[in-house]
Amino acid sequence: MTTTTNTPASSGPSSGSLIAELFIDGRWRAGSEGATFPVIDPSDGSTIASFAIASREDCLEAVEAAAGAQASWAATAPRQRSELLRAAYEVLTDEVELFAEIMIRENGKSYADAIGEANYAKEFFRWFAEEAVRIPGEYRLSPGGDKRIVVDRKPIGVSLLITPWNFPAAMATRKLAPALAAGCTVILKPARETPLTAAYVVDVLRRVGFPEGVVNLVTPERTGPIVAEMLAHPAVRKLSFTGSTEVGRELLHACADTVVSASMELGGNAPVIVLPGADLDLTVRESLLAKMRNGGSACTAANRFYVHSSLHDEFVERMAKELRSLRVGPGLDHANQLGSLVSVRERDKVAALVDSAVQDGATIVQGGHSSESGAFYDATLVAGVRHGSDITENEIFGPVTAVVRFDDVDEAVWMANDTIFGLMAYVFGEEREAIAVAGRLEAGMVAINRGVVSDPAAPFGGVKQSGLGREGSSEGILEFLEEKYIALTA
Ligand code: NAD
Repeated sequence: MTTTTNTPASSGPSSGSLIAELFIDGRWRAGSEGATFPVIDPSDGSTIASFAIASREDCLEAVEAAAGAQASWAATAPRQRSELLRAAYEVLTDEVELFAEIMIRENGKSYADAIGEANYAKEFFRWFAEEAVRIPGEYRLSPGGDKRIVVDRKPIGVSLLITPWNFPAAMATRKLAPALAAGCTVILKPARETPLTAAYVVDVLRRVGFPEGVVNLVTPERTGPIVAEMLAHPAVRKLSFTGSTEVGRELLHACADTVVSASMELGGNAPVIVLPGADLDLTVRESLLAKMRNGGSACTAANRFYVHSSLHDEFVERMAKELRSLRVGPGLDHANQLGSLVSVRERDKVAALVDSAVQDGATIVQGGHSSESGAFYDATLVAGVRHGSDITENEIFGPVTAVVRFDDVDEAVWMANDTIFGLMAYVFGEEREAIAVAGRLEAGMVAINRGVVSDPAAPFGGVKQSGLGREGSSEGILEFLEEKYIALTA
C-alpha cells in the first residue's frame, strides 16, 4: 500500500493510497487553515499520514452541504438508495484486504481482528441496502371509528455521526448505512487516532455515486466546542455517537439546547459469570474470544470474570496457558495474534489498572509487561481480584483478564449488576440455569455459552449508562426516521 499524506482533491485517489483530507460537498480538500495532525502507526510510533484539520468554518460548511442535499436525498427512491449501499458493499468486498490493512496501520490491531472487522463492517451496507426498501408504516381505524390513522416514517434530517478509534470501520458503517438508507444526509466525525479508515469508507461511497453533499467527513481539532456549534445548527436533527460514557454525557447536554435526537452507544464493563455447571473446554475457548477479540479494546469485551470456586483454579490455569501461547506483534505480520494498543497513552492506562489491582491484593498469573517499543501489552491474567477494585469498576480496554472467585450464584449476579454500565454480559453454564441467570442481568445484550454476539441483523446497544437506542437489525434504521401521523376521515 502506498502511503501518502495529502492527496489530490477533486476526483479522490484510486484504491491503494491513503486519503488524509476532508470531504465536503462531494470534494476532497485540505482544511481551510492548511493545518494537519499526524496519524501514528502505534506498532512502531511512525507517522503514516498528516491528516487535514477541519476548522470551525469547514465543519459548518459540511453542515450546510448536508443541509443543502437533504431534501433531494430524502426524495430519492428507496430502491436507488438501496442500490448505492449495495454497490458500496460490493466494492468493500473486492477491496477487503486493503480495507483491513488501513485499519492495521492506524489502529495497531492484528490481521485477524482487522479482516474480521472489515467483513463485519461491510455487512452493514448489505443489511441496510435490504432495509432501505422495507421501511415500515402503519394504518388503523381509530377506536371511535371517526378517522383513519396513517403513520408514515420520514428521514429525521441531517445527522452528525461521531465514532471511536477501537472499531474505526464498523462503528462508521453501522451509522452511515442506516442513516443513508433512511434518507438522511450525514457528517461523519471519526476519532483522531483513526481517520484514515473513515476517509477510505467515505471515498468508497463517493466512488459508487452518492450525490454531492449527502456524505461529508470532518476532523476538527477543538472537538467539543465545534461539535456543539454543529449541533446548534438548525438543520442538524440527529446525533449518533459511539464512544465513552463521559463524552456521551457531555453531548447529551449539548443536544438539549436544540432538542436534537440522540442515539448513544457508550462504554461497557461486561461481566462473565462462569456457573458451576459450565463446560470448561467451551468456556475457555469462548472466553478467549470474549476477552481477546480486538485485543480487548471492545466495548463488549469481557471485563470481569466471576468464576465459581469449583472451577476457578482450573479456569485460571487453562486461560493463562492460552494467553501465554498468543503470538504478539504488528498486525502486518499475519501470524501475530495480538496487535498493539492504539497508542502508548492507552497502553499505559491498561498497565496502570493492572498495577492498581496488584496493589489491591491481586496476583499476576500471566503477563503484566509493556513492550519497550510500540504500544504493546502482554496478554495478561490477574487472579484474586477484589470486586469493587479499580479494575472491576473501569473498562480495561486491553488484553487483561481479571478473575474474581465466587461461591454463591446470587452474589455473582449482584456483583455483575453492581455497575453504572449495562452493555454486554456473558454467562457460561448448563443452558437452563444460564438462561435463568441471563434474565437477571442488567445488560442490553447477553451471550450464553458463546464469546461473540455482534451481528448486523441483531439489535446492538446498552441499558443504564451504556447507551440509548439500538444499532443494526431492523431497529437501527428507526433511529434515523421519525413518525408522521396523518389523520384521514373514515
Ligand atoms: P471517546 O469518547 O474519547 O471518543 C469518541 C469520539 O468522540 C471520538 O471521535 C472523539 O474525537 C469524540 N469526542 C471526544 N470528545 C468530544 C467532545 N467533547 N465532543 C464531541 N466529540 C468528542 O471514546 P474513544 O476513546 O474513542 O473510544 C472508546 C470508548 O468507546 C469506550 O468507552 C468504548 O466502550 C466505547 N465504545 C462503545 C461502543 C458501543 O457500541 N457501545 C462501541 C465501541 C466503543
